[in-house]
Amino acid sequence: MNGSNAYRLAVIPGDGIGKEVVPEGLRVLEAVSTKFGCVLNVDHFEFASCDYFQKHGQMMPDDWKTRIGGHDAIFFGAVGWPETVPDHVSLWGSLIQFRREFDQYVNLRPVRLMPGVPTPLANRKPGDIDFFVVRENTEGEYSSIGGRMFTNTEREVVIQETVMTRVGVDRVLRYAFELARRRGKHLTSATKSNGISITMPYWDERVEEISQGYPDVKWDKYHIDILTAHFVQHPDWFDVVVASNLFGDILSDLGPACTGTIGIAPAGNINPERKFPSLFEPVHGSAPDIAGQGIANPVGQIWSAALMLDHLGETAAAAGVVQAIEEVLSRPEYRTRDLGGSAGTADCGKAIADAILG
Ligand code: ATP
Ligand code: MG
Repeated sequence: MNGSNAYRLAVIPGDGIGKEVVPEGLRVLEAVSTKFGCVLNVDHFEFASCDYFQKHGQMMPDDWKTRIGGHDAIFFGAVGWPETVPDHVSLWGSLIQFRREFDQYVNLRPVRLMPGVPTPLANRKPGDIDFFVVRENTEGEYSSIGGRMFTNTEREVVIQETVMTRVGVDRVLRYAFELARRRGKHLTSATKSNGISITMPYWDERVEEISQGYPDVKWDKYHIDILTAHFVQHPDWFDVVVASNLFGDILSDLGPACTGTIGIAPAGNINPERKFPSLFEPVHGSAPDIAGQGIANPVGQIWSAALMLDHLGETAAAAGVVQAIEEVLSRPEYRTRDLGGSAGTADCGKAIADAILG
């Protein structure tokens, strides 16, 4: 790893609009370097894209792990071009490999209402909604343990197990408590211990236990059903919400849906110890329907850069990027088509970079 304030970034644009929004993210990161004085050394990689697959018959070179494993973070665009490579091949050959091999056990998604972004929730304004969803990213409900018996008969039985390990549960809870400590000092845990009678009570027990180490953090828990309702009716109640893999999957789509369009939402796949690089990417995909036109919204990618800076410990720079996004989105002339404007990808990206430079 580098000394303080200098970082090595692996930049992977991937496919489709990834190749259009990543340069805008880099433009903003350059402005950040100038303004906040952190040194960002960027290496570009063409693999983890369907173009690469077409040339090489695989999504990544055999030595991909050594090529990017020493970087501080991966700044990722989007992967997938179903016309040439089926989605399961492109996804399993790239992002899923990163998540597994780099032990990115936290999936982090901010839920924050930005100016100029229409929300489906009535009477909500920017400032009302500002929290994070922390999803367990490696175990839980998404195990492949189970099977079918008496297939295609009246007696057919299908079973799939949920796996929770103490290490796996505790580490994501600790990450969430740490984040809560840095923010509003309020953590919410998603459970369903009234229906799922073995794993969810265990999850609750671990929350209780880990909370002892964080007496300054107030915490509560809700069953997942009422919690989804609260996301819609009382989004102002939350600071950090932590959940198992399945519940987190649901909440991390619902949260951003409450605060606007797919074009602005970012995500982090994080290895908190920084033993391996974490990956930051917009939530959206490669958007083949608008690729190559210069009209994609770059905000999801740029906000991912803010998450990345925060992960690297550059908290002032991260806050500066979020503030610049807000300034620019509040001006209609810089909004892209998905937000009802007519600005191009580069117009919006440049405006955000300029706002950072002041
Ligand atoms: P994935 O394959 O990653 O699950 P997808 O292919 O279903 O995702 P996207 O590629 O995200 O979906 O596109 C979904 C819709 O949202 C498309 O109509 C696309 O044009 C639009 N969209 C996605 N990202 C953006 C963006 N950054 N700016 C504008 N529109 C976008
Ligand atoms: Mg897709």
